[in-house]
Amino acid sequence: MSNETHPSLARRRALRAMCACTSAAAAAPWLGSAAVRGAAVGALGASGLALSSQAHAARAAGASPSLTPQQALAKLVEGNDLFLADKLPPLPRNRKRRLEIAKTQTPFAVLVSCSDSRVPPEALFGQGLGDLFIVRVAGNTVSQEGLGSIEYAIAELGVPLVVVMGHERCGAVAAAVSVVKDGTGFPGAIGNMVQPILPAAISARSDKGDWLDNAVRRNVVNVVEKLKISGKLIEDPIAAGKLMIVGARYDLDDGKVDFFHR
Ligand SMILES: [Zn+2]
Repeated sequence: MSNETHPSLARRRALRAMCACTSAAAAAPWLGSAAVRGAAVGALGASGLALSSQAHAARAAGASPSLTPQQALAKLVEGNDLFLADKLPPLPRNRKRRLEIAKTQTPFAVLVSCSDSRVPPEALFGQGLGDLFIVRVAGNTVSQEGLGSIEYAIAELGVPLVVVMGHERCGAVAAAVSVVKDGTGFPGAIGNMVQPILPAAISARSDKGDWLDNAVRRNVVNVVEKLKISGKLIEDPIAAGKLMIVGARYDLDDGKVDFFHR
C-alpha cells in the first residue's frame, strides 16, 4: 500500500485539509448508520470546518484547552450542580464573548447527545459560547461522520473529554425497543436512525427493571466502548492520559446528569 492510500495518512491529510467528512471515509467501519450521515455532514458545513487553520494558529499560540480530562469532567459536574440548584450565573453568551472566540475555538469537552429538545448540553451544564463541541443525533449514536467530528475535536482542538449522554424516556431508544418487542416498522429514514440502537434494545430485554431505561444505559455504554477502540486518533490520547471518554444519563424529571460509565 502506497503512502497515498494508507488509511492513517489519508485521514491525517483530510484533517489538515479541513474536511472531517473525508477523514471519516478513511476511518475504520463502525456504527454504520447511513441515515444520520447527511445530518453530520451538514453540522460540519463550510463555516465550521473553516476553523482548522485558526485552530492551528491558536494551538501554536498556546491557546489549546489546558484542562486535564478530570478537570474537564469536574467542570461539567459543577455546571450541572448549579443548573440543578437554579444558581447558574449569567452565561458568557454576549457580544464580548462572541468576539473573544470569533477567530478560534478551544472547547473543553465533546458532547455526544440526543437531538431531543429537552436535553441541550449547554443548558444542562451551564456552558456558553465556545465551551462545548457537540454531536447530536436522535439516540446519541455515532455515525462515521460523527466519529470524524469527534476525532477532529480531539486531534485538532485538543479536547480532553468526550461525554456520551443518553437520557430518560428517549424516544429514539423507545423506537428501538418497539422494534424488538413488537416488530414495529418506521417510514422514511427513521428506521436507519433506529438501527444502531437495536443491539442495546436487544441486550436490555433480559435485564431486570425497566426495558427502556436499561436500553438507554446499554446504548450509552455501547457507544463509549466502540469509541474507545475506534482508531489511533482516539486510542493514543487515551493511553497517554490526555483524553477520557465517559458515559452519562440525563434525568428529565430531576435534571441530574449521572456519569455512570467511565
Ligand atoms: Zn432521545
